[in-house]
Amino acid sequence: MTYVVTESCIRCKYMDCVEVCPVDCFYAGENMLVIHPDECIDCGVCEPECPAQAIVPDSDGQAAAWLELNRTYAQQWPNLARKEPPPADADAWNGVAGKKAMFSPKPHGGSTPDSET
Ligand code: SF4
Ligand code: SF4
Repeated sequence: MTYVVTESCIRCKYMDCVEVCPVDCFYAGENMLVIHPDECIDCGVCEPECPAQAIVPDSDGQAAAWLELNRTYAQQWPNLARKEPPPADADAWNGVAGKKAMFSPKPHGGSTPDSET
């Protein structure tokens, strides 16, 4: 069992979730976070903390489409245990549908999408 980060995180990336995870199993990409499914202890603490309602248990119908993406990128992106400032336009993207096409495979810590030329 694990919890899974889904599409709603993309471009919101509020990072409230990382502050509460007792095992620090969040990994950060350029515009979303993922949960390492083998490290998550299924405590559920992060789910209500997410302002974008992006975190679901793997029993949720939305989870299946995102589980392998979480597993794949948790092995490639850096671990993130402390909240950092969210994107300036995070609120504008909260609740917007169809964000999967905006997913970035780049790791957190590089340039932001807006600063790329
Ligand atoms: S709190 Fe939600 S939107 Fe923010 S990084 Fe975590 S999963 Fe993504
Ligand atoms: S369910 Fe618990 S262990 Fe899993 S990611 Fe959320 S806070 Fe971390």
